[in-house]
Amino acid sequence: MTRQAMKERLYLFDTTLRDGAQTNGVDFTLADKLHIAGMLDELGIDYVEAGYPGANPTDTNLFAEKRKLDAKLTAFGMTRRPGRSASNDPGLAALLDAQADAICFVAKSWDYHVRVALETTEEENLASIRDSVRAAKAKGCEVLLDCEHFFDGYKANPAYALACAQAAYEAGARWVVLCDTNGGTLPHEVERIVREVCAKIPGDHVGIHAHNDTEQAVANSFAAVRAGARQIQGTLNGLGERCGNANLTSIIPTLMLKPDFSEKFEICVPEQKLPTLTQVSHALDEILNRAPNRHAPYVGESAFATKAGIHASAIVKEPATYEHVAPERVGNRRKVLVSDQSGRSNVLAELERIGLAVDKDDHRVIRLLDEIKEREAIGYAYEAADASFELLARRMLGTVPKFFDVSYFDVKVEQRGQNGGSEVLTTAVVKVKIGNEMLINAAEGNGPVNALDVALRKDLGKYQKYIDGLKLTDYRVRILNGGTEAITRVLIESADESGEHWTTIGVSSNIIDASFQALMDSIVYKLIKSGAPG
Ligand SMILES: [Zn+2]
Repeated sequence: MTRQAMKERLYLFDTTLRDGAQTNGVDFTLADKLHIAGMLDELGIDYVEAGYPGANPTDTNLFAEKRKLDAKLTAFGMTRRPGRSASNDPGLAALLDAQADAICFVAKSWDYHVRVALETTEEENLASIRDSVRAAKAKGCEVLLDCEHFFDGYKANPAYALACAQAAYEAGARWVVLCDTNGGTLPHEVERIVREVCAKIPGDHVGIHAHNDTEQAVANSFAAVRAGARQIQGTLNGLGERCGNANLTSIIPTLMLKPDFSEKFEICVPEQKLPTLTQVSHALDEILNRAPNRHAPYVGESAFATKAGIHASAIVKEPATYEHVAPERVGNRRKVLVSDQSGRSNVLAELERIGLAVDKDDHRVIRLLDEIKEREAIGYAYEAADASFELLARRMLGTVPKFFDVSYFDVKVEQRGQNGGSEVLTTAVVKVKIGNEMLINAAEGNGPVNALDVALRKDLGKYQKYIDGLKLTDYRVRILNGGTEAITRVLIESADESGEHWTTIGVSSNIIDASFQALMDSIVYKLIKSGAPG
């Protein structure tokens, strides 16, 4: 038998669209949900839990959509209500009628909740679990049962929590999922309890659903796997209410790149899809209109960044010295931060990455280093602004074409009306010179920086087509050294149609001027990236 064939199958269940959607400020549209489900399917996830059909129109429509997914689109809902029959429960009927590939029921498994929240008897709760699983099985659905508050319930009354799980398994549920609903259980407790459960129910029918309230949802998921569970539930980027769900964006690469798991288990995500992980993670942030977490393991911008000069020279020589996995494996990249603490080796490493290889003794490298130090002394921070660093380097090396000049700009903020009926109106005018041509653009905006941005990008003549896909995804302002003499540092993050993100910087005593510098850098960077002719 080959090694591959001996590996055990571990299943991944994504609940970004259901549990993740319960996060504060997250409100997916139908189009968002379809897009995310497609992304998860493309990645190779086994189950995509998409929502509550029957409970809201978006989710009902979602399940009614025709789809071509390999992943099992899973509907979520309650078991039949106590005191009703399965055939006389409208909520259950809507769930059964949805065109779902699998149904995940949620049921109480803590005796205390059965009494207090459900106000029913322990036996009636077990009957509800059995009836609901059977009804869904009869419809030809694969069935999962989420045992809510399983770990807290098990600590209070192990026999009853286990009876709930066993009722589902014996009624034909494919998976019994043990939920750490409050997220307070610790890894050693999860491991012990899951081991005890797996002595009664085969582990390849047991799943784990962990929340991150002690920042151990990922560790708890792995603890459950060590104890025998063979399904992990989680979300992209750890999205989820309170502190989030188990983060599949961290779990997937760990399962695939750490020999303790990768030699033992096989998961649904194929080897060649792993390098799309960073992109998938950023795409979710994009949909949520959030800035990506720079410090996210594996996929964050800083996940493979090194600052100190001594580390940087070692990293260039032998990356494995400071990296636990190769960044390319997950679609991320090594980043040697260029800053006033950095030595020549950092700058050389960055130049090489950008594709501007120069001899290490080239006098321009020393000049660039001096320039960086001078600029950082007045407030620039190039380690946070990769694109501005690249432009600075290209300018020193003489490879930035003269695309256009801004010969004039004017931003006006007016308040009109009075007595509560006032509105604030912002307009910007920009004069751009391209060759011998002078373009004058005027725009209104939502605040001065937005107006300036809209005016600047409204018409760039022959360059317009190269910047069509450019959008600003984040804008951060920091006031340095306080007081009336304050210096403003603006960081602008941009993205384009290819999904690439970059950050530019501007520093000035005037916030508009600082923003303008960062906007200009972003546009020029995009023009270079798109191969616009000088
Ligand atoms: Zn949950």
